[in-house]
Amino acid sequence: MPQEYRLKVAKFGGSSVASSWQFRKVRDIVQADPARRFVVVSAVGRRDKHDAKVTDLLYLVNAHLRYHVSCDDLFGTVGVRLSEIARELRLEYPISQEFGLFRERAKTGCFTEEHIVSRGEYFTARMMAEFLGMPFLDAADVIVFHHDGTLDMQRTEERLQAAARECEGGFVMPGFYGATEDGQIKLFDRGGGDISGAVVARCLGADLYENWTDVSGFLTADPRIVDDPLPIPHVTYAELRELSYMGASVLHEDAVFPVKEAGIPLVIKNTNSPEDAGTVISAGDDGQARAIAGVTGRRGFVAVRVKHARGVSGASALRAVLAVAERYRAAVERVSTGLSSCTLLFEEDAVKECLYSLVAAIEQEVAPESMDVVEHLALVSTVGRALPERPELTGRLFDALGRAGIDAPFASRNPGEISVTVAVAEQDFENAIRVIYAAFVH
Ligand code: ASP
Repeated sequence: MPQEYRLKVAKFGGSSVASSWQFRKVRDIVQADPARRFVVVSAVGRRDKHDAKVTDLLYLVNAHLRYHVSCDDLFGTVGVRLSEIARELRLEYPISQEFGLFRERAKTGCFTEEHIVSRGEYFTARMMAEFLGMPFLDAADVIVFHHDGTLDMQRTEERLQAAARECEGGFVMPGFYGATEDGQIKLFDRGGGDISGAVVARCLGADLYENWTDVSGFLTADPRIVDDPLPIPHVTYAELRELSYMGASVLHEDAVFPVKEAGIPLVIKNTNSPEDAGTVISAGDDGQARAIAGVTGRRGFVAVRVKHARGVSGASALRAVLAVAERYRAAVERVSTGLSSCTLLFEEDAVKECLYSLVAAIEQEVAPESMDVVEHLALVSTVGRALPERPELTGRLFDALGRAGIDAPFASRNPGEISVTVAVAEQDFENAIRVIYAAFVH
């Protein structure tokens, strides 16, 4: 039986509010469920890939103002995007006047960058509040920042709870920004509307945080590589971290720490296809772990293999090699060690300036028997909470790669870890993902 939720916080991303048409979809979604009482919105985003996000335009506006370059065109573009929505929805909110006032004041240089950029979400939420017939709650009054730009969770909680008591039926709040006690606007990192939504969910004790975007959650593999990959119905935060680290985008684990800490489940839903189940993210298992959650990866790695000189212990050689890497500030991505050699994997971009001096330094200081550098590798991670308990799954993975003739010169799997990572030649990257996908997902 589907679970009943009493209180949901629904956060809508930029593409979900990119036009009057999208506003209507949001209204249908909010009105379809009385539990969706608290709504957080991003700034008007892209309608298609040729479009610009209002937030990006406002960053540009600010840069122009700083360098005293005319930005009337940019202001014009933002103004048109906003007033078009208001006109098409017949809103009463006087967006043209309000935006005009903001523009004139911004031109006098009296606003900080953060203030200017925050107006994208501010105006979007103003219009959404009227359209939904709900009160508007300014994030500057409730999301409290310390002066160092970090969130004051305690004060925020007090203010949000007071606001929720006042607007019992719910409110619409702009995401991405808040303010210090003395009223200075502060922003979260880019994409920070997700954080605002998570903060509201946590402070109001929601039992579900809905993150509405333009995809139906996570897919088991990149659709540019695998045809029609299956969606992932449920991931744990640990799986999410592994999947995002290796390249799967949609939502960053850091962005949702408030709900993660509070044990509130989160669901990624598609505004353009609200009936799709989406992906639920929660700390615990739903008892329905599939063989794997997903397979993902990244190109652009390089391996340095060091064969130890006779008589040198593996541990001391490894320590010496790592010390050289540390001196060159070359972040080691993975390490694998054997009886007579060790291999260090680096991200190509991170060592492009220093790779050859690093190798020369190892040569000189560690005096290995031999060493070599293998460039153009890709890492492929297979992630799933079932992996540690089911040894046959790892066997299946290597068997599938072997049958496809894909060499995996480097593999790492640590006890208890929920992922197995292999390095393959970059030219085998896509095929490796397809082969692993086929071995696990039917
Ligand atoms: N509008 C902001 C951005 O583009 C925040 C958000 O969309 O969550 O980064």
